[in-house]
Amino acid sequence: MTAKTHAEPVIRRRVQITGVVQGVGFRPYVYRLAHECGLAGSVLNDSAGVDIEVQGSPESVRSFLNRLRPEAPPLSRIVTFDVSELSPNGDRNFCIVLSHGTQEQKVLISPDVAICPDCLREMLDPADRRYKYPFINCTNCGPRFTIVRDIPYDRPLTSMSVFPMCAECQREYEDPANRRFHAQPNACWKCGPQVELWDSTGKPLLGRDPIGEAVARIRAGEIVAIKGLGGFHLAVDATNNEAVERLRQRKRRFEKPLAIMVPDVHTAEMFCILNDEIRSTMQCVQRPIVLAPRREGTAIAASVAPGIHELGVFLPYTPLHYLIFAAGQFEALVMTSANLSEEPIAIDNQEALARLGNIADWFLVHNREILIRSDDSVVRVAKDKTRQIRRSRGFVPMPVFLDREVPSVLAVGGELKNTICLTRAKTAFLSQHVGDLENAESFGFFQETVEHLSRILEIEPKAIAYDLHPGYLSSQWALQQSDIRLIGVQHHHAHIASCMAENHLDDKVIGFSLDGTGYGTDGHIWGGEVLVADFAGFDRAFHFDYVPLPGGAAAIHEPWRMALSYLHHHYGADFWNFDIPFLKALDRKKADIVVSMIEKKLNSPLTSSCGRLFDAVAALLGIRNTVSYEGQAAIQLENTMSFETDAAAYSLEISNGLIKTKPLFDELLRDLSAGIPTGQISRRFHNGLINGFVTIARRLRDLHKLDRVCLSGGTFQNFYLAENLVQELESAGFQVFTQSEVPCNDGGLSLGQALIAARQIS
Ligand code: ZN
Ligand code: ZN
Ligand code: FE
Repeated sequence: MTAKTHAEPVIRRRVQITGVVQGVGFRPYVYRLAHECGLAGSVLNDSAGVDIEVQGSPESVRSFLNRLRPEAPPLSRIVTFDVSELSPNGDRNFCIVLSHGTQEQKVLISPDVAICPDCLREMLDPADRRYKYPFINCTNCGPRFTIVRDIPYDRPLTSMSVFPMCAECQREYEDPANRRFHAQPNACWKCGPQVELWDSTGKPLLGRDPIGEAVARIRAGEIVAIKGLGGFHLAVDATNNEAVERLRQRKRRFEKPLAIMVPDVHTAEMFCILNDEIRSTMQCVQRPIVLAPRREGTAIAASVAPGIHELGVFLPYTPLHYLIFAAGQFEALVMTSANLSEEPIAIDNQEALARLGNIADWFLVHNREILIRSDDSVVRVAKDKTRQIRRSRGFVPMPVFLDREVPSVLAVGGELKNTICLTRAKTAFLSQHVGDLENAESFGFFQETVEHLSRILEIEPKAIAYDLHPGYLSSQWALQQSDIRLIGVQHHHAHIASCMAENHLDDKVIGFSLDGTGYGTDGHIWGGEVLVADFAGFDRAFHFDYVPLPGGAAAIHEPWRMALSYLHHHYGADFWNFDIPFLKALDRKKADIVVSMIEKKLNSPLTSSCGRLFDAVAALLGIRNTVSYEGQAAIQLENTMSFETDAAAYSLEISNGLIKTKPLFDELLRDLSAGIPTGQISRRFHNGLINGFVTIARRLRDLHKLDRVCLSGGTFQNFYLAENLVQELESAGFQVFTQSEVPCNDGGLSLGQALIAARQIS
C-alpha cells in the first residue's frame, strides 16, 4: 500500500480457508501473492485452517481473490473457501502473524512429498550451495509424516531436532519471502544429515563417495539396501536377471511382481505402454508405484514380474534417488520394500543390518531417522480415475473427507493388507499400509501405528470397530481393550460402507461385495455377497452357493483343490469320467484325499468366496494349480483373456438368494472338451459373472426401489470385471459407485468399519 493523501477507494476482505493448508507453504505463498497485488493485511494459521485479511483497491483485492485458489501451493488442498466483508482500517503492510500455543494443534500433517522441481534444479546446479546434497528440501517438498514424533509439526518434534540449522539455513527458515520459510526439515551440507555406505556387517566405507560406491555395487549385480523416506528399499539392476533372481531367493519372495524405479517417464515408455493419465500419475507429488501394461521383449529381466502383463513403475522421489540415477545412468532399478517376505519394511539403520544382513550386500544409510514406516503406495490408472491399490506413502495421513460430522472411533481393519482408521469430525484418517497381520513383527507395527496415529492426530476414540473373524490379530487386540465400546463389523458390510463413505452416500444401496475371504455372520466363509446395506445394517440378498474349502487355508494356496471342490459339488463322483486335461494331470492319490475330506466334511469349511471361484476356474483351465501370493491365479486368468472372437457368456442360476454356478460349469466343461482356447473360456466366464450380477441388480431394484449400486472387495481389482460391470449396470440405468481414493481390497476395510461403528454410537 502506498500512502496517498487523496481518497482512493479501499476495501478489506476476510478469507477463511480450511483443508490441508498448514505445513505446506501456504502462509509464505499468501504473503508473496499479497505483495504482488500490492495489498495490506495479514495471514495466520488458526485451528480450522488459514485466516487471511487483505486490504487495497477493489481491483487489487479482486485479482488477489481470483488467483488465491488456482495458484495455491501444490501440496495444499482447499476444502472450504469463505470470503466476507470487513471495514478497512489503517493497515499499511502485509504480515504473517505467527501462531502460538495449542491453537495450531488440530491441523493436518502433510504426507511426505517428492522433491520439487526447484530443489531438483538447485541440487543439480554446481554453483548452488546444496549441489548434490541428498537431503535438499523446501516448504513444497520433502519428508513430513515419516519424521513427525509429535505435534505440533515443528522441528524440535521431528527427527530433524538433532540437526541445529547453520546460520544460512536459519536465515532462510525465518524469511517469509523465502521458499524455505518454516520448512521444518531444512538442511544443507554444513548442518544436515549425511549419507554413508556400510558393508553387511555395518562397517562404513570411509573417505569415499558413498553414492558413487553404491552405484558401482549395483552395476556389479550386487544388492544394496537404500534408506528412503518411509523405509529401506532393496535395490538391484532391473535388467540383470541373475541379480533379480538372487534378490528373490534371499528375500524369499518367489513370484510376486517387483516394482521398478525408472529415471523419468521417457524411460518408463520403453518398458510400458503409457497414456497421458498414467504419465501424469507417475509424475504427481505422491509418486506412487503405477501399474502399467508392459511391453514385450524389453530389457527388464524376466524374473521381475513373471506371468504378469503389467509392470509396477515409479519415478525417483527423494533427492538421493535422483543422485543415484544421475551417477549410475540406470535404465531401471528394482526397488522393493526391504523386508523378509510378509514382514514390515525396515526403517532403522541397526534394525536394517540385523534383519537384512543376509539379504543385502551393502547398506546406503543416513542419519535422519525415519520415525514411522510408510511403504510405497500402489495405484492403477483406470479410464477416468486413479485407483488406490495400496494407499500409503505420499497419501497418508491425508484424510478422506466425509460429508458429515462423525464421532471419533478407531477401526482396526482386517488381517491382510491391514490399515487402521481414525475419525474426527468430518474427516477419516486411514493409516499407511500395515501389511498382513500374520506374524509378531507386523502385529508390533500394527500396535505402533495405532499409538502413533492417535497421538499425532490427538484422537481419543469413543469406540473400537473390529472384524468379526475371531482369529484376526487385529480383532483379538480390539477385544482386549477395556473401558471402551467394542463394535464387531461384518467384513463385506465394511467393504460396502467403505465405498459409501468415499462416495458420500448415506441411503440404502445395492452392494456387490466380492473378495476372497471374510467371516460371515453364520460362521461360514463369505466372499461372493450381494447386500442391501447402509451404515446402520445390511441384508444378505444374494450370495454364491456354498462349496467346501478342502483343507481350509491350504485350498487358498492350492487352487486345484477348489477345482475339485466345485466338480464334486456339481457332479458328485461322476466328474472322474470327464475328459479334461486338468484331471489327467492330477496326482490321483492327493486328489482322492481331498475328495474324501470333502465327503467326510473334514477340515472343509463352507465358502461363498468369489475369489475361490476364480481359483477353481484358473486351475480347471490349466493356468495354475498352486499360487505363491494372494490373487495370483485370478490375475493370470484375467491376463489370459482373448478378445479375438465372439463375446459369449456362461450362465448362472439366480434364485432364492443364491447364485448357483452349475450351468456355468456345464458350459465351461463343454467348451473345455471341445478344445475352445482358454483365452476364450476366460472371457466367457467373466462375461457370465457380469450378466449374472446385472440380473441380480435388476431384481433388487424391482424389489427395493433402489438404483444405487456400490462395488467393493478385492475382486474388483480385476480390471475387466470392474470396467465392464460398471458399464453394463450404467446402461441398465443404475448409478454405480466404486472406490478410487481408498482401496477396494481389504486395505479399505477400516474406513467402512469406522463409519458403521460411528453410526451405531451416534
Ligand atoms: Zn523443494
Ligand atoms: Zn545449513
Ligand atoms: Fe475383503
